[in-house]
Amino acid sequence: MRAKLTLVPKTAPDPVQAVRERVKAMPRPEGWLQCNKCGSRTMFTAVNGSWIDGKGQYHRGTVVHDKLCLDCHKRGIHSPMMPSRPKPAT
Ligand SMILES: [Zn+2]
Repeated sequence: MRAKLTLVPKTAPDPVQAVRERVKAMPRPEGWLQCNKCGSRTMFTAVNGSWIDGKGQYHRGTVVHDKLCLDCHKRGIHSPMMPSRPKPAT
């Protein structure tokens, strides 16, 4: 027996989601990066394998995550701030 699918009526967003939608709808300066999921403007870059040599000089390792939303990352969501480049068709 198959379950009959029905449309669920749209509900009002909870207070947290209402704030996110309001922030995302606010006008932003030209060129500013903003998360499409939560509206945050905080981003981070994660680097793996950095080290300090014997002279005390810092050496940067390999970038493993770049330009990701920090607030989404805290909630376990992967949200790039920059759209991925289109890949050529093969
Ligand atoms: Zn976000």
